[in-house]
Amino acid sequence: MNCSKHKWKSTKYHKSFDNYEFCEYCKIRRGDEFNTIKFKKLDDNAVIPKYMTDGAVGFDIYSTISFTLAVGGTGTVTTGLAVEIPKGSELTIRQRSGLSKEYPNYIAIGIGTIDQDYRGEIEIPVVNNNTTHMFEINIGDRIAQGIVSPIIRCVIEEVDELSETTRGEKGFGSTGGITKQ
Ligand SMILES: [Zn+2]
Repeated sequence: MNCSKHKWKSTKYHKSFDNYEFCEYCKIRRGDEFNTIKFKKLDDNAVIPKYMTDGAVGFDIYSTISFTLAVGGTGTVTTGLAVEIPKGSELTIRQRSGLSKEYPNYIAIGIGTIDQDYRGEIEIPVVNNNTTHMFEINIGDRIAQGIVSPIIRCVIEEVDELSETTRGEKGFGSTGGITKQ
């Protein structure tokens, strides 16, 4: 995927975006060559993920297992992949919008975090929320998406007082409900 000698060329990949420089050969965006995600296949059925478009934030993650989720049933989808993401980043596993659209109220995927130092298999817990239909998962199904994001680590401190703000302790609903005020 990553070529040995990049040749950067300015491209506008979407009208609402600024110009970016892309490599003429491998199509990666300039700057991204310093960030590598390493995947290791643990299973012959595993699929190495890829970004489907130049602007895609996430890459699809594929199942290496077939099973049927009963109504209200839970299960774990295996991916046959171990991963090494750049230091200072996390890998988040999220629902694919395509799946939610095709199967509304069917399977739900809890947001999961893969730590930078985790080297085990990526596994995805799923639940069938549909009240009448079973849900079938097959080998090779695109079941979730992965997104790599920068993280910050902090010094954790216990204090007696926090700084004051206008909002203060106002929590849920303090800026109004779903309708226009
Ligand atoms: Zn290149």
